[in-house]
Amino acid sequence: MSRFLNAAYRDLEAYVPGEQPRDMQYIKLNTNESPYPPAPSVVDAVNRAEVEKLRLYSDPECTVLREKLAALYGVKKENVYLANGSDDILNFAFMALCDREHGAIFPEISYGFYQVFADLYGIPATRVPLCEDFSIDHREYCHRDGMIVIANPNAPTGMTLSLSQIEEILQTNPDQVVLIDEAYVDFGGQSCVPLIHRYPNLLVVQTFSKSRSMAGARLGFAIADAALIADLELIKYSTNPYNINRLTQIAGAATVDAEEYTRACCREIMATREYTVTELKKLGFRVLPSSANFIFAESDRIEGGELYRQLKARGVLVRHFDKPRISNFNRITIGTRSDMDALLCAVKEILGE
Ligand code: PMP
Repeated sequence: MSRFLNAAYRDLEAYVPGEQPRDMQYIKLNTNESPYPPAPSVVDAVNRAEVEKLRLYSDPECTVLREKLAALYGVKKENVYLANGSDDILNFAFMALCDREHGAIFPEISYGFYQVFADLYGIPATRVPLCEDFSIDHREYCHRDGMIVIANPNAPTGMTLSLSQIEEILQTNPDQVVLIDEAYVDFGGQSCVPLIHRYPNLLVVQTFSKSRSMAGARLGFAIADAALIADLELIKYSTNPYNINRLTQIAGAATVDAEEYTRACCREIMATREYTVTELKKLGFRVLPSSANFIFAESDRIEGGELYRQLKARGVLVRHFDKPRISNFNRITIGTRSDMDALLCAVKEILGE
């Protein structure tokens, strides 16, 4: 840390992304990426001619991609906001939609970045404990004073709230923003996008990083009432108007055109998830019910950190969180069937089966 750093940031604890090691080739099941490449039409769309156009700025309004997403989700262009990864939208929401007085409310066990953004902007955070079975008790989020942030499905548990539970949160908090982070919704959850027509306080956040195989392109989007979207635009035009680069806009548009490919990849991942859950349960694991492209599992035969280390030594990378209540678990991204067979084989060897 230099002596120049603003005092406000001296104690900031940054988010720690999942490892991206380069020492050897791992079966990488630690950052919830898709095991499948982007749709073939994306490769064709990002061609030489488009690369040559990189001398020009990108369209700050992302017109083509916004219109395509609006059509796909049955909303208007004014209801769609695009960002450099959904983390950027979370950033703006904490920066602009809550304040020191009202704060933010989110589950104690959830996406770790929520706390980092709260700290970054000096927003008081209320972290609501999960129930005994790791589910979210939606009643805890009714009649609150502050921005409510819920990942649905939640991470790292993979568990969901129903639309009617989310609707109750929206109804009982008409003067608060309710941000529903749907990063993993395409793997079996139910999107609350249709609720934006009735609830001007609802901000739905999604990403191209998981179901659309584009984590490296950095593309996230929000869907909400036009007034909330205008708030995000205000911050964007006050920080970085060209926030989505040309190639990502083109790749994103081609991906939306290939929606059937996306759905097929999701179906494959969901089938592989069910297979993996069944096999891990046969080995005595407890696996939380997941509607995401990852599972959260623990065994009473081996401690969570130890399993993580032994898997890594065998070339299989999963994510372990050394945190209260979840340190015995590992979060395992669903890869291809052969990735999961390699994982299961390594687990059996570690358990001496
Ligand atoms: N929300 C949740 C719940 C996530 O797990 C992630 C991925 N780390 C993100 C948002 C951010 O995704 P991205 O910035 O790649 O869109």
